[in-house]
Amino acid sequence: MKPFLPILLSLCLVPCLAFADDELKKISEAMPSVPSVKPKKSHNILVYSHPSGFKHSSIPTGVKALREMARKTQAFTADFTLKTDAFTKDGLSKYDMIIFNNCTHVQKAFSESFQREAILGFIKSGKSFAGFHSASDGGVPQWPEYTDMIGGCFAGHPWNAGGTWPFFLADEKHPVNQGFEGREFQFSDEIYQYKGYDRSKLRVLVGLDSLKTDKKGNSKTNDYPVSWVRSYGKGRIFYSNFGHNKATWWTPFMLQHFLDGIQWALGDLKGPSDSIPQSN
Ligand SMILES: [Zn+2]
Repeated sequence: MKPFLPILLSLCLVPCLAFADDELKKISEAMPSVPSVKPKKSHNILVYSHPSGFKHSSIPTGVKALREMARKTQAFTADFTLKTDAFTKDGLSKYDMIIFNNCTHVQKAFSESFQREAILGFIKSGKSFAGFHSASDGGVPQWPEYTDMIGGCFAGHPWNAGGTWPFFLADEKHPVNQGFEGREFQFSDEIYQYKGYDRSKLRVLVGLDSLKTDKKGNSKTNDYPVSWVRSYGKGRIFYSNFGHNKATWWTPFMLQHFLDGIQWALGDLKGPSDSIPQSN
């Protein structure tokens, strides 16, 4: 039977490898080829992707996309980790930004006060943070300061990943929205409602047009923010709810939005972060 083993192995491996290459190929083709603005200095980012709660299958896709974004646009360099070791005051000192890529229940991963102080102190001191999708699934009640920092905590997803939902631009002219070219759009991804969300603390850039859907969420004013920016101490934060579906990570206008959000948080792309009232 032994001669069959290599054949069996190759039968299993070839489709897997082919798929992995295909995913990277789609990401690479969809990725902007230049940064939106040339970085004034080099930026080093730490990307953390370990889920302490629900594990999204799009986590490796997000890693590939952020790695390809760094390689192709040269807007930043990035280290990728599933471990929490570097999240100390000293460990973070060589970085300009933290990205939480679809990690869940960060209150479990960062349960010690020195870790929490290191992360929040890092941002407050003038550094940057970006969170994608379930980076907001965590915080309250065990780590309310995290929810206060990121801007809201996941409280269910009435709009499921298989649906296609309508979105509007809450700030058409913001540079982080340039990838949408001023248009409302439909997109398929899993969309959250939040607890601990306070519009007055952040600037909503993209919102869900929930009244055009047949689902109801928890907001009395139908305020369902999807992407936003905010200031936090001297630092800057970009968060986007998009990123549950793998295909989000190879959609050109989404990758442009993500790149612009990261470059805005890094301070290279200029745009306001003060709150704007709900308009619809
Ligand atoms: Zn999700």
